[in-house]
Amino acid sequence: MSYKIEVDREACIACGVCYGTDPAHYEGDSESKSQVIGGKGNGKSIGSFDDGAKTDAQRAADSCPVTAITIS
Ligand code: SF4
Repeated sequence: MSYKIEVDREACIACGVCYGTDPAHYEGDSESKSQVIGGKGNGKSIGSFDDGAKTDAQRAADSCPVTAITIS
């Protein structure tokens, strides 16, 4: 089942937990803020996946200290 990841880059405090936990879906930019790999957008980085790895993406989202990541 496909799912969408949305990173609120305004809320992100660049801690690195999400892309350290799940580098298949998240990466740090030049300021260490998170963005979705292959995603679109800037203020909000959004990407869709259908890779059977939603659990990994969700685990990273649950680890975010400022709840900047939404999976739907
Ligand atoms: S875990 Fe949250 S605050 Fe940390 S880099 Fe990822 S989106 Fe940003």
